[in-house]
Amino acid sequence: MNHPNCRQVQTSVHDFLDGELPPSSAEFMTEHLQRCPECAHLVRFESAVRARIRDCCSTEAAPPELRVRIMTRITHVVTQVRVTYQERPGDVER
Ligand SMILES: [Zn+2]
Repeated sequence: MNHPNCRQVQTSVHDFLDGELPPSSAEFMTEHLQRCPECAHLVRFESAVRARIRDCCSTEAAPPELRVRIMTRITHVVTQVRVTYQERPGDVER
């Protein structure tokens, strides 16, 4: 299934997992995920990655807010690294 809504879900997946979407958008996401296996899979995957990172970084000293910020940053860095690597293979920055 390739619905136009899928695009919106895919661009909002990080905000969704961060709980930063307004309630109406979160509701839209939840509803779409029940109908669209592809998007549901994407959210499950992203969620699993975050759970993994959370396990690695879990320190009782760190407030939850900070941990969320760290997780978001790690996710963004991972995405950027992947994009950079694909765009410029073999080009090492000095
Ligand atoms: Zn979808």
